[in-house]
Formats: sequence, structure tokens, C-alpha cells
Amino acid sequence: MHQFIAGQNLTGSSGNKHDVIDPSTGETVETVVLAGADDVDAAVAAARQAFPGWSRATPGERSAVLSRLARLLEEQAEELARLESRQTGKPLRLAREFDVPGTIDNVDFFAGAARHLEGKATAEYSSDHTSSIRREPIGVIGSISPWNYPLQMAAWKILPAIAAGNTVVLKPAANTPLTSLMFARILQQAGLPDGVVNIVVGDGREAGAALMRHKDVDMVSFTGSTTVGRTVLEAAAFNSKRVHLELGGKAPFVVFEDADVDAAAHGAVAGSLINTGQDCTAATRAIVHRSVYREFVDKVAELYRWVRVGLPADEGTDIGPLISYAHRDRVAAMVDRARGYATVVTGGTAPGGALADGAFYEPTLITDAAPDSEIVRDEVFGPVLAVLPFDSDDEAIRLANDTPYGLAASAWTRDVYRSLRATREIKAGCVWINDHIPIISEMPHGGMKESGFGKDMSAYSFEEYTQVKHVMYELTGAVEKDWHRTIFRIR
Ligand code: NAD
Repeated sequence: MHQFIAGQNLTGSSGNKHDVIDPSTGETVETVVLAGADDVDAAVAAARQAFPGWSRATPGERSAVLSRLARLLEEQAEELARLESRQTGKPLRLAREFDVPGTIDNVDFFAGAARHLEGKATAEYSSDHTSSIRREPIGVIGSISPWNYPLQMAAWKILPAIAAGNTVVLKPAANTPLTSLMFARILQQAGLPDGVVNIVVGDGREAGAALMRHKDVDMVSFTGSTTVGRTVLEAAAFNSKRVHLELGGKAPFVVFEDADVDAAAHGAVAGSLINTGQDCTAATRAIVHRSVYREFVDKVAELYRWVRVGLPADEGTDIGPLISYAHRDRVAAMVDRARGYATVVTGGTAPGGALADGAFYEPTLITDAAPDSEIVRDEVFGPVLAVLPFDSDDEAIRLANDTPYGLAASAWTRDVYRSLRATREIKAGCVWINDHIPIISEMPHGGMKESGFGKDMSAYSFEEYTQVKHVMYELTGAVEKDWHRTIFRIR
């Protein structure tokens, strides 16, 4: 029963089965019967039916559901962390210390933010009228999420949408649907009315495409690759839906000559290997001043060799497997092609022994790749960091921006003027100074350029999930208004 529609646990109508695989062992966690177009229709109809009631619930009522949700998630935190780790292969430590608490903090944030939705102050902008702004929900939101942080991505999609009074149909990635389903069931326990959040677990090209094109969906919110994002834009054009796109990234990590190289090396390891590098904001291109280049490469290589690749449930594991064998093979093929034009300093292999059955891959450091080579330009989405040298600040900024993506970036420097220049000139939705990766519920996450548009998290996400309506009240009560005389005059 892996479809959650109108508060019911149902089986998918496509008849096609899909195994959710633990990529650390290849074992099947659960077998899902995938959703077909009929399930998408039913879920959208349920969301449509739930919309009038939920959109009229007071902010206080919506907030109360989210507050209860946060406490229920705390009670089930360990179970959620274990399930998230099992279906993705991510270390249990990461799921326990990042994915689950981050999600709960988001829920608490939106429980508060639900009560702070505001329009602009009412005022007279013409002497004969009072204008006011109503901030209203959009309607039924069709959301699609990826497999890398399934629980957090489901939360990022669902929370601002329902806090603002919308209803949602979410299609998680078919290989990692289990915590999204659990999240929706806990929302039901928290008192969310049936139909406000529906989960359809299906193939992207079938259920995902049907949801994006659906005529009764008012907005589509997509997180995933830039390639699929383009097809989502096309589908949304069909009936002019509002669109929010969180797409790929290729984050630069700029180390200036005055940086603390030890701190930068540690930051590069954590920033490139989080979630086995399957993070859209992960550090992927270290752009390092030539005077500290060799020191930086040596330090990162040494730290990479310390990183423990291991089974997700082992406390000592730093990084787990990639999401699937197919993805591991894709990452390995990109590294193998890079051997022809660059130097693989460390890594570049799949570990054997106890890890031979899983989709594991060693942390891989690459130097001597040209800025326009595949490994530097394309999203690898694995534990791979390429390092490039630079000679001047102008060159560093140019290299940082030399990508179609613009999601995240960091600059490492102790010079305040360099940091100001980097934050102003690097085109990315987030620029960290002397760190790389931290996110917080109060601040927006979202891209520029081909990384998409719109914001997740923070009060800014309400801009995506609400629309403003101008309401104008005539003040004089006159039969013939002054402005009528411009159009017609009774003689
Ligand atoms: P993907 O684009 O392959 O899939 C994402 C989702 O889209 C899945 O649910 C999939 O089933 C669905 N999908 C696939 N084809 C579809 C279609 N034709 N129509 C509708 N839906 C379709 O991405 P992925 O491999 O699951 O995730 C990795 C990608 O996500 C990376 O590019 C990463 O950078 C990006 N990502 C971005 C952010 C962000 O905030 N910008 C966050 C996480 C991941």
C-alpha cells in the first residue's frame, strides 16, 4: 500500500512493480506497486476537494497541526532515521543528526511562519479608493522530489505549501518513497484533514509527467535535475501553471591566497563528501590560488584517505554507498574518462571486501583537469572533487562563474574586501564565507541561472506558494465617479 490518497493507503493502479533497494547491500527493502495516471487523477481530485476547507482554516489552525506534527516526528525520529538510511544508503549518523532534526526544525519554523502571512498595509492610493492586498494560496500544488534527501525534500515541498493554505500532491522519487509516505501518515495523525497532502509513488515519465501536465494542478514545484526541470517547464506551459524549480548545481569552492588552508581543506572534505557527494550544493570545483594550491591538494588528499567508507548502520561510517549501482557506474565512468585528460590523486575505485556488494565508491580527488572538461563542468553527484589553480582574483571569480549552474558557492579568505567581492560577484543563490553546506530554516535555499528559480525554506518560500490579490473599495458612493467622465459624459 504505497499510495496515500485522500487519507487512504492504496495500491498503485499501474500494476508495475518497483523494488526499493538498500544500495549498501542490494537487498530489497520493500516492493512498491507504482502509481498510474488514474492514481494521479484521484490524488489531484482529493487535493481539489480538500482545498476550500484547508484554505479557509485559520493560520492558527494550520499552525496547530504543524506543531503537533513536530512533536510526533520527535517521537518517531529514530524510526524515520533508520528508514531514511535504509532506502538511501546514507549513514545512519547523517540521517539522525542532519536529515531528521533538520526536518523537525523546518516543521517548527513553518508552524510559526503560518501565523505571519501578511499582505501590505491597507491605504488610499487614490483619493476616492482604499486599496488592500490579500495574500492567498494558489490551490493544488503538484510537487516532485528527488532521492538524495527524500525526507527533507518532501518537507521542503509540503510545509510552506500547506502552511499557506494550499493542498498538495507529492510524487517522491520511486526509489526512495518510504519516508515521504511516513511523513504524510504522521501529518494525518497530527490532525491534517484528508486530501490536503497526497503521495503518489510512481515513475517520473509516467506519474510525474501526468502530474506536471494535469489541468487541475495550479502550480508545479520540482526539485531534481536540470534536464528533467526543462521538461517540467514545458509541461507547465500547457495551461500556464506557476512553476518553482530547484535544479542541479556545480558549486565552486574558492580558496584565496590569504585563506586558512587547514580550515579550507577540512571544509572541502565535509563539503564535497556530505551524503556521498549527492548534494546539489556540494563543493565540486575547488578553485585555489596557485601559492597555496599544492598545500591544499596534499591536505585534502590526506584527509580523503582518512574518510571511512562503510555500511550505513556502522557508527564509524563517514560515507555510505551511492544511491544505486547504475549511478555508481555513471560516476566511475566519468572518473575513468577523466583519467585520459587529468590526474586522479586519490580514490577512483570501488572498495571490495565487505563492501563489494554495495554501490560504494572511494572519495576521489582530481587535479590537472581543464576548466571546460567534463569532470569540471558536468554534475557528477558523487564523492568527487576537482581542483583548479588560479593566479588573480579576477580569474578566480571568472572560473567560479564559468558554469551554467548557480546554486551555491563558497569563498575562503581572511580579507574582508575579498569576501565582499566574492559575495557580490559570484552568481549563486547562496554564497558562504569560510564554510560550505550549512542551511537553516530561517534562510532561503534556491538557485540562479540553470539551477532554477524560486526559494525553499524561510518566509521567502511563501512568495512561491501564495499570490497577491488587489482589492479596491470605492469611498464616495457617487453614482457618477470623477473618472467616468473620461469615458462618457451625460450632457
Ligand atoms: P531527476 O531529475 O532524475 O528526478 C527527480 C524527480 O523527477 C524524481 O521524482 C523523478 O521520478 C521525477 N521525474 C523524472 N522524469 C520526469 C519527467 N519526465 N516528468 C516529471 N517528473 C520526472 O533527479 P534525481 O536524479 O532524482 O536527483 C538528483 C538531481 O536533483 C541532481 O541534479 C541534483 O542537483 C538535484 N537536486 C537539486 C536540489 C536543489 O535544491 N536545487 C536539491 C536536491 C537535488
